Amino acid sequence: MEKFGFTISKIRQIDYDSNDRSIADYIYEREPSFRLCIECGGCSATCTTGNYTNFSLRELHILIKRGENSQVIENLKKCMLCGKCILVCPRGVNTRNIVILARQAFQKSDSYAI
Ligand code: SF4
Ligand code: SF4
Repeated sequence: MEKFGFTISKIRQIDYDSNDRSIADYIYEREPSFRLCIECGGCSATCTTGNYTNFSLRELHILIKRGENSQVIENLKKCMLCGKCILVCPRGVNTRNIVILARQAFQKSDSYAI
């Protein structure tokens, strides 16, 4: 293959083999609507927390699915569980329950301090 003298920057790489996706599996098992999310961002657009901080539920979903859990922990506490996002989700995702389950999964896991 032709070498162009550059490669993907390390910070842009996602290593699915080493990422821990047990938090995502925990949620999938208990809240199957998590699989219906198409990452459209409707929830983020309506989120009160997102209006005043850089919190994004859409981004949180992506990070959970990728198993980038240290970034998930950083952001998980910002959600106020108000439920506004549930009202606008076009896919009927039970978004609030996903946040609750993610918190639960981290609390039950020995690998994370939350
Ligand atoms: S509004 Fe629903 S489908 Fe869209 S990103 Fe949020 S949870 Fe996913
Ligand atoms: S439940 Fe959380 S993510 Fe949804 S709108 Fe409220 S603060 Fe935002």
